[in-house]
Amino acid sequence: MIDAKTGAEPRTVRQGEPRLTVVSGPSGVGKSSVLGEVRKRAPEVYFSVSMTTREPRLGEIDGVHYHFVDTADFERLIAAGEMLEYAHYAGNLYGTPRKPVEAALAAGRPAVLEIELQGARQVRRAMPQAQLVMLLPPSWDVLVDRLTGRGTEDPEVVRARLTTAREELAAEAEFDATIVNADVQAATSELLRLVLGREQ
Ligand code: 5GP
Repeated sequence: MIDAKTGAEPRTVRQGEPRLTVVSGPSGVGKSSVLGEVRKRAPEVYFSVSMTTREPRLGEIDGVHYHFVDTADFERLIAAGEMLEYAHYAGNLYGTPRKPVEAALAAGRPAVLEIELQGARQVRRAMPQAQLVMLLPPSWDVLVDRLTGRGTEDPEVVRARLTTAREELAAEAEFDATIVNADVQAATSELLRLVLGREQ
């Protein structure tokens, strides 16, 4: 395990090798904001487009935010060994198509997957050289505020997300590094250093 604060290298990553970085963290921690900044500051990074069986939300574009598919198609891809990992989450299937990630790494691009805990564990097994990074809230209360303050989900959904968040935070020790998202720009710089393997 490495410490994001001391900047020690994960044992399994060799210098100069394009890295696969898995970013996880509870709902409401600010993953989209931090990853949005990573995209802007490092366009060379490949972002995996996940597949999901959930319905697109307003403004989401097929092939950009997710590949939206039905359960039968998703299950066919699992059976064909096309998914690097997949998980059931909040009643839907989510997964990472394997080939685009392998192609990006083979082309020398660092790659990022933004996935939940069960998927992160599968990537750890399938690709031991991947580094797992968990984004943490500054405190539990801040996370509760962010999840309830969104005002977009019903209380039942918020409760379920908080339960999942507790489970995810309890898995912190399985991750190579943790980044506290108290400030989006600072968290982005820390994450970029891990994704690119060098100072920004
Ligand atoms: P949402 O429905 O809010 O877009 O995503 C719900 C959860 O699914 C988030 O925690 C997100 O990180 C996770 N997720 C998105 N894509 C994948 C994927 O390809 N695999 C796994 N395991 N989780 C994913």
